[in-house]
Amino acid sequence: MTKQIQAVRGMNDCLPGDTQIWQKVESVLRDTVGAFGYQEIRFPIVESTELFKRSIGEVTDIVEKEMYTFEDRNGDSLTLRPEGTAVCVRAANQNGLLYNQEQRLWYMGPMFRHERPQKGRYRQFHQIGVETFGIATADIDAEVILMTARFWKAFGIQDHVKLELNSLGSNEARAEYRDALVAYLEQHKDKLDEDSLRRMYSNPLRVLDSKNPDVQAILADAPKLSEHLDEESREHFKNLCERLDAAGVEYQVNEKLVRGLDYYNRTVFEWVTTSLGAQGTVCAGGRYDGLVEQLGGKPTPAVGFAMGMERLVLLLQALECVGEIRRDADVYVVAMGDTASIQAPVIAEQLREEIQGLKVMVHCGGGNFKKQFKRADKSDALVALVLGEDELAQGKVTVKYLREEKEQITLTLAEAKLLLAELVS
Ligand code: ATP
Ligand code: MG
Repeated sequence: MTKQIQAVRGMNDCLPGDTQIWQKVESVLRDTVGAFGYQEIRFPIVESTELFKRSIGEVTDIVEKEMYTFEDRNGDSLTLRPEGTAVCVRAANQNGLLYNQEQRLWYMGPMFRHERPQKGRYRQFHQIGVETFGIATADIDAEVILMTARFWKAFGIQDHVKLELNSLGSNEARAEYRDALVAYLEQHKDKLDEDSLRRMYSNPLRVLDSKNPDVQAILADAPKLSEHLDEESREHFKNLCERLDAAGVEYQVNEKLVRGLDYYNRTVFEWVTTSLGAQGTVCAGGRYDGLVEQLGGKPTPAVGFAMGMERLVLLLQALECVGEIRRDADVYVVAMGDTASIQAPVIAEQLREEIQGLKVMVHCGGGNFKKQFKRADKSDALVALVLGEDELAQGKVTVKYLREEKEQITLTLAEAKLLLAELVS
């Protein structure tokens, strides 16, 4: 036998059954961003490598070790997008969307990172992301956080996720803090692990992120970011907190929350859950006022977030909060004899035309009644619509219940349509 070709590790198929859940999740998310008046933007999956190096930062996990980068046939270095923010900024800049305008945008789609695959961590995964441009005040920071809170409410999982919040301050305040932190870390060099040592000079704030308990112990006495915040950022953060309080959104200020990407300033936040094991961050975001300029645009304040959709789906499944899934089919049409079999798709099409939302599946592949009913049973349909030659000649059809102990009934086609309409009302 010829050897079967397997999928790339960490890149999953999504099979029927799962796609039903995904469609439902996607539609709730779309409705929610729509309910805030945000507009969808779509951009390519492949971009120039330079875009991510310049935005995410050279000394980050993503750029150092996670990108799918390759040379195309022209010898240009291209990368499968590992995230959406940089691409969104590139697209908005290039198409003049940021020219003296505010924008509130969202996108949804696959991202690619070469990580070690495990539950909640894949090499192709999906994000829904929101990016807003041109608004510097904390009201918009609060709005995007409120939007994420609406997601949880819409899925009924608001009691299972917690919001962590921090402010990184201005770039200047961060630089000042960075120096203070490095000075402190230098005194404790001997107790730092390899990762932290490497980050100490290149990206010292990331040391705060360390999962190593020994490093965390040292950090307990390290200088605090909050002590170095500039006055404006302090005000901004206070205003954001007031707004979240007023909206009844609970949060925990986490001074060690710094985020893995370089471009953030001021507000950073994460939604975390304890119901998913190690991969507990479902959604993450913040303000990135410097990024547009860093990518060649005019200085433009910006704030956004990205949510990992696989983690959301896993969470909904773990909490049994997927909710009701729409049936694949409501009616399965079976036909006896050649004339009836030719009529079947014609009648099915009438039903689809006349009954809004009705899902009609027509038996294909021939076979006797027994075989056709077996298929009808295997389908999702609630009823079978049976077309017999003699009945059809009299304009009649039979409705047979597939999931209930109910007598089958023979009706005129018009009566049958009324009955079927009730299935989707
Ligand atoms: P983590 O700390 O889990 O690696 P991150 O900081 O790299 O996350 P972001 O770049 O902020 O993640 O991406 C936003 C969200 O996208 C994450 O909170 C997570 O839900 C999801 N995500 C990130 N990487 C993956 C992945 N490899 N597989 C599945 N989901 C992911
Ligand atoms: Mg990561």
